[in-house]
Amino acid sequence: MKLAIRDDDTCYFTDPSELERVYHDVWDRVPICLAAVPFAIGYERAGIPREHWHDGEAFALERNRALTGFLKTLIAGRRATIALHGYTHQDYPDGFEFQAAPDPERRVADGLRYLRDTLGAATSKSMTISNSMTISIFVPPHNAMSRRGLAAVGAAGLNILGSFLSFRPSMRPWDYMTPANWLRVRQFRRRTGRTRDDRLIYPHVLRYADHAEFGCHSLIPGTTVEELTAAFDEAKNAGGDFCLATHYWEVDAPMKNVLLRFLDHAARDSDVRFVAAEELFA
Ligand SMILES: [Zn+2]
Repeated sequence: MKLAIRDDDTCYFTDPSELERVYHDVWDRVPICLAAVPFAIGYERAGIPREHWHDGEAFALERNRALTGFLKTLIAGRRATIALHGYTHQDYPDGFEFQAAPDPERRVADGLRYLRDTLGAATSKSMTISNSMTISIFVPPHNAMSRRGLAAVGAAGLNILGSFLSFRPSMRPWDYMTPANWLRVRQFRRRTGRTRDDRLIYPHVLRYADHAEFGCHSLIPGTTVEELTAAFDEAKNAGGDFCLATHYWEVDAPMKNVLLRFLDHAARDSDVRFVAAEELFA
């Protein structure tokens, strides 16, 4: 069984010390998949200065030199991998970025190129570093995607690490793999006694014609160790894998404690391998 961790919202507004504070005693056990925003535009959340909540200014990641240098070191040390987390992460009046932006295709292409150029090339030409800078995962801002947003990401060949759980055929482009995936999810629901409205995170990768998808379990304020271990045990009993998703900017001491106790629970199981999130799709 594979276990991975994803952390969202690394961007211009991130101070390296915030990542260090949360993960200094975690990333040597399990590499953190940092879902990063290339050109962050502010919105209302902790960690973004209030004056940038509504100013609409796009902040390129590289304007935070301390951060890009820090990320390169993490990548080279295999403590972190990088995923694409939208392009600006901005909220539109009628939806989140990958639901409402007029140009999701361009955002994926430009965002990928920017992150590779900014965090990959400049450090070293060595194979090791360039390989570890391969970006193969997209994390949708606010876990929300329109049909077109999903198609844009799939066409770019990126796998999707979401926390959206339901499998709504009406919300996605269809390909020849879709019906079988729909059936798998439905059978899993039945086997676990869930109805259509019950929360479900399917514990296996779903493969589509041009990409694959995997659902994460959220660690947010209020999440308990018991909830996570129960979800983990269910995934394990189903022969599946597990990915935990959180936001460094809301991890306080109680949440950190939940994270460590959960990892200890998982580590007691000799079948469990702590992996980079990219390996979930291997
Ligand atoms: Zn986000």
